[in-house]
Amino acid sequence: PVHALSDLAARFGSEVRGDAAGVELTGITLATADLRPGEAFVAIRGGTRHGAEFAAAAAEKGAVAVITDAAGADLADSAGLPIVVVEHPRALLGDLSAWVYGTGPGDDIPLLFGTTGTNGKTSVSHLLEGILEQLGVVTGLSSTAERHIAGEVIVSRLTTPEASEFHALLALMRERGVEAVAVEVSAQALSRHRVDGLVFDVAGFTNLSHDHLDDYADMREYFEAKMPLFRPDRSKRAVICLDSEYGPEVAERCEVPAVTIATPAIAFEAEAAASADWIVDIIDERQDGTEFSLTARDGRTLTTVVPVIGRHMAANAGLAIVMLLEGGYRWERLTSALDGGRIEAYLPGRTQLVSGERGPAIYVDFGHSPDAFEKTLAAIRRVTPGKTVMLFGADGDRDATKRHDMGRTAVEGSDILVITDHHPRFEDPDSIRATLIEGARRARPEAEILEFSPPERAIVETVARVGDGDAVLWAGPGHQDYRDIRGVRTPYSARELARRALRAAGWPVPDPHWPVPYPDD
Ligand code: ADP
Repeated sequence: PVHALSDLAARFGSEVRGDAAGVELTGITLATADLRPGEAFVAIRGGTRHGAEFAAAAAEKGAVAVITDAAGADLADSAGLPIVVVEHPRALLGDLSAWVYGTGPGDDIPLLFGTTGTNGKTSVSHLLEGILEQLGVVTGLSSTAERHIAGEVIVSRLTTPEASEFHALLALMRERGVEAVAVEVSAQALSRHRVDGLVFDVAGFTNLSHDHLDDYADMREYFEAKMPLFRPDRSKRAVICLDSEYGPEVAERCEVPAVTIATPAIAFEAEAAASADWIVDIIDERQDGTEFSLTARDGRTLTTVVPVIGRHMAANAGLAIVMLLEGGYRWERLTSALDGGRIEAYLPGRTQLVSGERGPAIYVDFGHSPDAFEKTLAAIRRVTPGKTVMLFGADGDRDATKRHDMGRTAVEGSDILVITDHHPRFEDPDSIRATLIEGARRARPEAEILEFSPPERAIVETVARVGDGDAVLWAGPGHQDYRDIRGVRTPYSARELARRALRAAGWPVPDPHWPVPYPDD
């Protein structure tokens, strides 16, 4: 898109400094590192510094203008660029981006499916993508794990996922013929204005449980941070899963037309689950997937398989299917693609089975909350004839209040618990492990609890203790390809390390379906 700076100023600005006449912009960017020539630099006040201090650097990279607040305008003055002064650049960024990229609610853009909740956002987004592709729809995906356009992985050139980035991505998707987009919407994305300027055709709610209490004062505040998605300025309709404690309240307070769904087998409250418009019933749980039926009040029903273990994954898949139905895809079209068959979706690092036909089953997972541990361990136990081993570490510099609970749920759901390191960041890994072990010991003093550091060693020690019929859940790293150690991102892949440990122990390993981030040894 090419826009005249004077149009932008007339629409959004309160004042123009310098000469805006004849200046044209092709995009907007918040970070000078991401800026491309011809774009305008949006300078926002940060925690310690004002973005406008970097106006000169932006000019050097080819910025054509600065958009900032009054304080920023004074700081940016010496850069020699025209400045459009706006009142609240951060709050305006979404609308500004939507205008620049032509991706606002009134524009011709793909159907938008947004999913929020504590757990399952990424899974539902990838399931939506998989099902849409099975329907023959050209699909886009934006999740914390990956971004795809028509199945192709997009490597983002940008460092921060701000609203301007999302709108630019959406414009690119439209250009490539994408008809529908699955978007993961975290509470932080909502409260930090990262999805401003978008109205989702369908908003989905998975569940709410203890997590992210480092960002929010308490569960109430976290709950409130999730709610804005269910207002008319953010979504047209909603599908709400009633399974978690807060599900019914979200349904009650949802301000857009909504339908509800529940999975009685995992629901917090049986009565609420029974009242749902759609019910997910678990039919069979296997190592390579979970078979379930999805039934409406009016009797419509389909049976399919989600290619991941766990009742919660069937709940996620049911939510995805009902979201598509609410988005306008016909029931007959959905059943002809899915009924009696299987959902073809790839969920990177979500209870992903990385082992082969023989030897222990090893699942690498992204779960990092007590609720995720409980659900995933229970699912693995139900399909594992032998013993279930839990291997994990906790994030440093993140919500420490959940560590005891993580230790407790991990030890309660497993036969052997192996504690290791995750991203220590600037914390002492020894003391993180000690807190996890304390929580576990308190819950089950007699349990077998082992401790190994670093994780490279822990997985080898773990594999040495298991064999045919046993299972290992390695929770935490999921799809990630680095570990954050004192602020430095060290290349790392749990999936690859698990594969190597299996091979070293003499078990066959299948070819990896993920990029191998460091050279083979
Ligand atoms: P998010 O994107 O919300 O963090 P993911 O889909 O990445 O969620 O799932 C993270 C982990 O949470 C999964 O690997 C699994 O352990 C757990 N999980 C996924 N879906 C659910 C669910 N519906 N209920 C409880 N736990 C879940």
